[in-house]
Amino acid sequence: MIDKTGIVYLIGAGPGDPGLLTIKAKECIESADVVVYDYLASPILLKYAKKDAQIIYVGKKGGDHTLTQDKINLLLVDKAKQGLSVARLKGGDPFVFGRGGEEAQLLLEHGVQYEVIPGVTSAISAPAYAGIPITHRDHTSFVSFITGHENPNKENTNMQWDVFAKSNATLVFLMGVKNLGNIVKNLVANGKPSDTPVALVRWGTTSQQQTVTGTLETIEKTVEEAKLKSPAIIVVGQVVNLRKELAWFDKKPLFGKRIVITRARAQASGLVSQLTNLGAQCLEIPTIRIIPAEDTAPLKSAITNIKDYDWLVFTSVNGVKFFFDTLFDMGKDVRALGHLKFACIGPVTKERLGDYGIVSDILPQTYRAESVVDAFSKEDMKGKKVLLPRAKVARTVLPENLTRMGAVVDEITAYETILNDDDKQTLISMLEDNKIDTVTFTSSSTVSNFMSLLENQDTARLLKEVTFASIGPITSDTARSLGIEPDIEAAPYTIKGLVDAMIAEYERQG
Ligand code: SAH
Repeated sequence: MIDKTGIVYLIGAGPGDPGLLTIKAKECIESADVVVYDYLASPILLKYAKKDAQIIYVGKKGGDHTLTQDKINLLLVDKAKQGLSVARLKGGDPFVFGRGGEEAQLLLEHGVQYEVIPGVTSAISAPAYAGIPITHRDHTSFVSFITGHENPNKENTNMQWDVFAKSNATLVFLMGVKNLGNIVKNLVANGKPSDTPVALVRWGTTSQQQTVTGTLETIEKTVEEAKLKSPAIIVVGQVVNLRKELAWFDKKPLFGKRIVITRARAQASGLVSQLTNLGAQCLEIPTIRIIPAEDTAPLKSAITNIKDYDWLVFTSVNGVKFFFDTLFDMGKDVRALGHLKFACIGPVTKERLGDYGIVSDILPQTYRAESVVDAFSKEDMKGKKVLLPRAKVARTVLPENLTRMGAVVDEITAYETILNDDDKQTLISMLEDNKIDTVTFTSSSTVSNFMSLLENQDTARLLKEVTFASIGPITSDTARSLGIEPDIEAAPYTIKGLVDAMIAEYERQG
C-alpha cells in the first residue's frame, strides 16, 4: 500500500549553474520539509529551502560516500514514512547515471509515494557550455551516453566497444576520468581512428569549468599535464572540433576569476549575481555583520517626534531598512513622513527608499557624502531640522557641513556593523593555496575588517598575487592607510561601477 502522507521527489538539480534548475524543481525545494543533497548538486540551491527545512548532506565524491547508497535509500523511506515531503536533489538528471531508478524502486518497495523531476544532465550541458553541440547534421546522426566507470575486467560486459568504435556517433562518457586510458585503448583497438577528436569538460556550467581537447592519441597526455580530475564529461567525435568556433562560456570577461566578496552576506547577492553572470567564481567571506543598534530609544524617540523634522537623510540601504523596521514596529506607517523632504547618498539607497513609495528629493552627482553636501548647498537649510539615521561609526563630513549651513542635525545610530570572523580560516587557507585573484571592498569597514581577519599573518606574502578592487576613493584611502594599494577603483562609486572597472582591468590585462 502506498503511504499517501509522505512523498519523495527525485529531483534533477542540474549540472552546477544554478540558473539551470527547472521551475518545477525550485517549487519542490521551496515546499519540502527535508532536502537531501550530494556533492554534485549545487549547495546554492539550498537557499530555496524553507527556513525550518531539514537539510541533509549525503555524499562527497564518487565512491567516497558520506552515507552509503543503502543508507540514503533508508533515510528517504524513513523521512517519507514520517509524513514529510522530501526533496532528493541529484546532480544533472536523476535517471541519467544517477541511481534515481534504484531509489525509485526502493521507494516503491516500501510503499512510499514518489515523483521524478527530470533535470538538465551534465552529459549534454557540460559539452554545450564548452561550445560542443553533441549532435550536428554535418558530423553525426546519433549520440550515446556511456558509463566510463565499468570495471574493464568485468566478464559479462555490456560495453559494445566494436559498436562504439565503428559508428560515427558522438560518444559521451560519464564517470570516466579515472578510466580514460581504458576507454581510449578499447576504442582504438576496435578500429576508431586515433585522430578522432576528444574533449574533457570538468565542472561544466560552473565558473570552475575546465576543458581540454585532443585526439584519441594525445588526450591522455594532455589530461595528465592539465591535472584534470573528476567530475568530467568525456566527448569523443567530430563535433568536438566545433568548440574552436563555438566556445562561448569560457570567453566571458571574468571567466575563471576567483573573486572574494567581503560585504555583509545579506547585501552580497547583487554583486555575486553580476560577477557570476560574467563567469567569475564568487567566494563569499563576509567581513561585516549588521546588527540593530544596541539602544533603540533614540531612534524611537526621533520617530515619535518626527513632526519636528524637515529632512530625513539616508547614507545607506541599512539606514533605510532599520528606520522603516522601527517605524513599522511602532505601529506607524509612511503617512507619518508626508511632511518631510528626503535625501539619499546613492542610487541603491534611493531605490530602497522607493520600495516604501517615497521619491528622494536629492540624489547627488557622485555617490559620497561630499557630493550630498554639494547638493544641499542649493537648499535653504537655515534652522532646518535634519534626521540622519545611520551606522554607529560613520564619517562626519555630512553632519558637520549641514550644521555649517545652519541646519540642526540629529545623528542617530540606527544600526551597527561589527566584525564577522566566521570565515577567517577559510580566507587564510584560500590565500595560502593561491586560490584568490581579486578581493573586492565595498566600504571602508570591509577593508579594515578584512585586515583584522589577517592579523598576525604574513600579509606581504599572502596578498602578493592578489588584486584589490575598491568601490571608491574613500574606501581606497582606508585601504592605503592599512597598507593595501587598490589596483581597481570604481567610477561611479556603485556596485555596477565596481563590476565595470573589474571588467576593464581584466580586459587590459588580456
Ligand atoms: N545524473 C548526473 C550524472 C551522475 S554520474 C547527470 O545527469 O549529469 C556522475 C558523473 O556525471 C561524473 O563522474 C561526471 O562524469 C558527470 N558530471 C556531473 N556533473 C558534471 C559537471 N558539472 N561537469 C562535468 N561532468 C559532470
